[in-house]
Order: sequence, then structure tokens, then C-alpha cells
Amino acid sequence: MSSSQPTFNDRAALWAQLQQAPSQWDMVIVGGGIIGAGILREAARRGLKVLLLEQRDFAWGTSSRSSKMVHGGLRYILQGDIGLTRESLQERERLLQEAPGLIDRMGYYFTVRKGRFPGRVAFSLLLAFYDFMAGIRDHHFLPRADVLRHFPGIDDTGLKGACYYTDTVTDDARLVLRILQEAIAAGGLAANYVRVESLLRSRGLVDGVVAVNTQTGERVQLKARSVVNATGTWADRLRHEVNPETRVRPLRGSHLVLARERLPVHDCLTIFHPRDKRPVFAFPWEGATVVGTTDLDHRQDPDTEATISNGELDYLLEAVNDQFPRHAIGRDDIISTWSGVRPVIGSDKSKDPSKERRNHAVWVDEGLVTVTGGKLTTFRKIALDAMAAATATLGEMRITEPDQAVFGSTSISAADIGLADESRARRLAGRYGAAVMRLFEGVAATERANIGGTGFCLAECRWAARNESVLHLDDLLLRRTRLGSLLPGGGAEIFGALETICAEELHWDQARWQAELARYRDIWERHYYLPTPATG
Ligand SMILES: Cc1cc2nc3c(=O)[nH]c(=O)nc-3n(C[C@H](O)[C@H](O)[C@H](O)COP(=O)(O)OP(=O)(O)OC[C@H]3O[C@@H](n4cnc5c(N)ncnc54)[C@H](O)[C@@H]3O)c2cc1C
Repeated sequence: MSSSQPTFNDRAALWAQLQQAPSQWDMVIVGGGIIGAGILREAARRGLKVLLLEQRDFAWGTSSRSSKMVHGGLRYILQGDIGLTRESLQERERLLQEAPGLIDRMGYYFTVRKGRFPGRVAFSLLLAFYDFMAGIRDHHFLPRADVLRHFPGIDDTGLKGACYYTDTVTDDARLVLRILQEAIAAGGLAANYVRVESLLRSRGLVDGVVAVNTQTGERVQLKARSVVNATGTWADRLRHEVNPETRVRPLRGSHLVLARERLPVHDCLTIFHPRDKRPVFAFPWEGATVVGTTDLDHRQDPDTEATISNGELDYLLEAVNDQFPRHAIGRDDIISTWSGVRPVIGSDKSKDPSKERRNHAVWVDEGLVTVTGGKLTTFRKIALDAMAAATATLGEMRITEPDQAVFGSTSISAADIGLADESRARRLAGRYGAAVMRLFEGVAATERANIGGTGFCLAECRWAARNESVLHLDDLLLRRTRLGSLLPGGGAEIFGALETICAEELHWDQARWQAELARYRDIWERHYYLPTPATG
């Protein structure tokens, strides 16, 4: 992508285009999470005339609320899912090469304690196999003294040491945005806040969608040779128009965000929960410490953002305090929370949620391709499976090689963008790709400085407001950046600066700013902070 090209298409201009002459699309993708974005990328590189529609904001669904790990998933080996683990590890290694700064290696530790299973030998064998499948050799054993130094305040009862290995960590919402950016550069189009209401059909085949602009209420009919339903947890809803079966079992997982000073972990620690021995991670993320996840059936309306329950919150605090009793972490230490809902292909609702397999599925009903389940990590493979299913209606596609890079290469040095810190430059290049060269253009030095202990700066907020299809303040604080989850009070300290940026870049007057702030505070308090007693 040339550095002068726009990173996202102009949403308003695109909607106007959709309303004008009826046009025939090769493919319409419903859903702007990681899977929809991955399919847009693959379809655009094949020269298809392709459009992605997202009912809320890009990555608003599960893809901004995961555990942020591009990983093989050790526990899938234990469940006998060797194939999924091997494929995930291969994708992990590939993505690490392609998008450094967005996907980065992180150290993981399992403590080994006297009389507790699994012990050092069992762990080491498992990790050797894990590394072998990935083609690396990172695992080793760390003596007790090193573990105590590495995780200050950890309970030392019976502690013998820890088994170390590596996986990776990312910013899931920015991963989706970067893939969309690559897809748009290749000719794809994407619109947020456009919901697909229903399917169009003729002669027993799905051949388009009815879409509504949720900001104006206007509707359009769009004809397409192929319609792909990549709506994750919502997949059954659209599919029910052509097939009555229900296959998705929505499982909720929640996380806590704590100030790093309160729980200073520099790598990921796996805690086996004292209650049920489930693994819970405590890991460093964007300058804070994250603890998660839970895993339980989600029975609420999928259109309402998921919220952590009091039971989940207590469960996660219990795990942390079991490992770090001296820190005495309580509710007052929580900066924010988030909850996501996994679109798991459910086998049996009585089965333990954590034992459900994490594979994806592709179904074709009357020409509608539905793809759901799976993991963030394997998005590229899932997208290729969906493309293969779509060939029935698309015919032969122009580019067939499946193994092309998802991301354009961006090699810059800190000096190229006026920074002194190479690791920060690498981080920004990972997030913005070729557009990183323009990120700081004309931006005051004060906006380049990192905010608090996070890796984000106001220049990124300005960039997103100007270039990344931001419609609401929550888009900016919860997905383009993660400042709403990382700063106390949902980012209250930067509201003043953001008001100025939104006035300059989005032309929001005072009344609009106040309305956006009220909307954002309501979302944050209900779904990204502490649960009320009524939440259960
Ligand atoms: C707690 C938790 C932790 C996880 N951790 C990891 C992890 O560490 N690593 C990993 O690899 N995977 C992880 N996963 C799994 C991973 O996050 C999901 O598999 C993935 O994000 C699903 O992506 P998706 O695109 O299918 O769904 P989504 O991201 O939910 O995207 C679907 C989109 O479709 C939109 N939509 C729905 N209906 C319509 C409509 N009618 N019109 C237009 N748009 C519509 C929705 O708004 C939504 O944005 C985790 C999941 C959870 C819940």
C-alpha cells in the first residue's frame, strides 16, 4: 500500500454509492469481526468486488473481547485436539513473522509445587511436544529463586520452580482493523453501523441482502453472487432464514484489568483455580495486568453487550489471591472489566463449557455460506475454508495461491517517524502498517507522548478519528485504542483532549460531544466496569 492512500474507505461516500445504482457484488460478507475481516482480505486479493457490512463497530463483537492470545492452546492438546493445536501453532509462527509489533512473543509460566499435579516431568513433556509442533525450542525449567524474583508476592508454599514456554499476545481489535486496512488497500470495501436485516433469494438460492444504515434508518437491497454469514455468535440468527437448526452454543468469558503496580507480572502466569483447577491467566497487557478468563453459558440477548457477573468477578479475584495472597487484590483495584461471548459449535449443553472443542464450522445452505466458531489465531485458515465454500457460486477465482501474506511488510526505524525508541516504532508499525509513516504528520509533540503507563498516545486518537471510520466515542476509546479499558474511570483524564480532537477531526459541536460522552459513560459503566448487585 502506498503511504498516501486512505486506510479506510469513506463510509458516507460508500453508503451513498450503495443507495444509487443497484450493483451486483461478487461477495457480501456479513460481520466485521476477525473472521469477516479475514475473508474480506482473501476475497479482495482475488480481485473480487467484495463488501463487508458490520452492524455495530468493526470488532465490536467477540473479536475485541478475547484473551488477546495468538496461541496454539496447550489445553487443546490435553483434550486430544492435536490437529487444532498444530494448525494454530503454525499460524502463530507465521503471524509473528508477518506482523511484529502487533503480535509479539510472551513468556508463560506454570508453577511446580510439591505434591501438586502436574509436576515438572509431565509439564516438560507437554511443552516439548508443543514447541516441537511449532518448530521452536523455548521451553525450560526455572528454579524457585527466579520465580520469586519474576513474580513478586507469589505464594511460595511448596514452590519448586516453574516450567517456562512461549506463546504470543496481541491487541485483538487492532488486529481486525489492520486486516481490514490491508483488505481495503487491495480493493475491498467495508462499512460499520450497517446491519443486514434479511437475505434476498431467487430460484431457491440466496443472492443478496437487505441492509439498514443504523445511523439513519435507510435501507438498501444489495445483490451478490455469494453471501457469507460471518456473524460469530449471531450466526444461527441469519442462517435460520435458510436452515432451522441451532448450532452455536454461546459461552461467556470475562477478564479483569488491574493496575500493574498492584499486580506486577512481566510475563504470563498460569494459575490453576483452587476451586475447579481450571487454568486462569494473569498477564501483562498494554501497561496493565489482565486476569482471565471464565467460561460459562451465556443466556442473555446477544445484542446487549456482555457483562461480567458478580460470580465471575469473585472467581477471578479468588484465583489471583490464591497465588498472590500478600497483594490482597479487591474490587477497588479493578480498573475495568470486559466480557466476550465465544461462538462455540455446541455439542451437548450439559457438557462442561471448558471441554467444548474450539473448532470452526462452515455450512452452505441454499448458497448462503455460514462460518463460525474457531479462534482468533486461525482466522486466515478459517477465511480460506469460507472462500473454498463460496467457489460453488463464484466459480473459478483469479488468484488461487492460498499462502500469500495477510499483511504488507513494513520495515521502518524509529528515526523514520521521529521517535528515539525502536520498540515503540515497531509497535506502531505493527498496528498501522504502511500508514505509520503518516501517523505523526503535523501532530504536536504533546500528542506523541504515551498516555500514562499505556503504549497509546493522543496522535493515535487523532489518526483514528480522521481515518478509521469512527462514528462514536466508544469506537475511539474501546476499539481503535484501548484507553477506555486501561485508564481509570474509563479514560476520564483525557476527555478534555479528546473533545478538542473530535471537534477538529469529526466536527462534533458541544452538544454532540456531550451526547457522545453520556453514551460512552453509560456503556462503560454497564459493560466495562464492575457489575451491579443485580447482575448476578
Ligand atoms: C473470553 C474469550 C477469550 C478468547 N480468547 C481467545 C484467544 O486468546 N485466542 C484466540 O485465538 N481466540 C480466542 N477467543 C476466540 C475468538 O475471540 C473468537 O473465536 C473470534 O473473535 C470470533 O470472531 P468472529 O469474527 O467469528 O465473531 P465476532 O468478532 O463476534 O464478529 C461477528 C460480528 O458480526 C456482527 N453481526 C452480527 N449480526 C450481524 C448482522 N445481521 N449484520 C451485520 N453484522 C452483524 C457482530 O456485531 C459482530 O461484530 C476468545 C473468545 C472469548 C469469548
